Amino acid sequence: MKLFGIAFWVTILAQMVIRAPLNKKRRLEKMSEQQITGQEKSILGLLFLGGFLLPLLYSTTSWLDFANYNLPGWAGWIGVVLIAGALYVFWRAHADLGLNWSPTLEIREKHELITRGIYGVIRHPMYASQWILAIAQPLLLQNWLVGFANLIIFVPFYFLRVQAEEKMMQDSFGDQYREYMKKTGAVLPKLG
Ligand code: SAH
Repeated sequence: MKLFGIAFWVTILAQMVIRAPLNKKRRLEKMSEQQITGQEKSILGLLFLGGFLLPLLYSTTSWLDFANYNLPGWAGWIGVVLIAGALYVFWRAHADLGLNWSPTLEIREKHELITRGIYGVIRHPMYASQWILAIAQPLLLQNWLVGFANLIIFVPFYFLRVQAEEKMMQDSFGDQYREYMKKTGAVLPKLG
């Protein structure tokens, strides 16, 4: 496996390590609202394909080699810098959101609206980190099929998810969330 492929997998592994303790603790939580539509399940499945299964095939077999391309070394290094940043944002978001995190749209009985830490700057730091990772993927996994697979699937996921999530948060937290929206950007800090 090439150096940049290793950097990609180290990041995926680190994300799993960051999430594992929360995943374990979440199982004991009582939920007051859970929204999982068939559409969301399909997109989550596709994200797993573009962000994990295709990269795995690329890294462990030669089946997809026909679609490989070669970028100059500096492009791969830009990818490494990007995923290091993505990992930092991912870690901060999990540290600040704690047990309020969930893979699908959920409100737990003891849900707290987090507006501190990285959530005081942007509302969707985890999705921001997934944006950066999806943009870095074609620089790290230099293959037309594998490099862009994550980005192509993540773009519709992001817009559908944020729309549904912000509606759910407004239904649950009302004006408190609307005020919070005025002060923060979605994935980029609000200027001014
Ligand atoms: N969109 C956020 C969180 C993703 S996890 C991010 O990108 O970082 C999705 C869950 O987080 C949702 O089910 C919702 O219950 C919860 N959530 C989102 N924003 C929140 C906030 N500011 N405070 C508490 N919970 C939040």
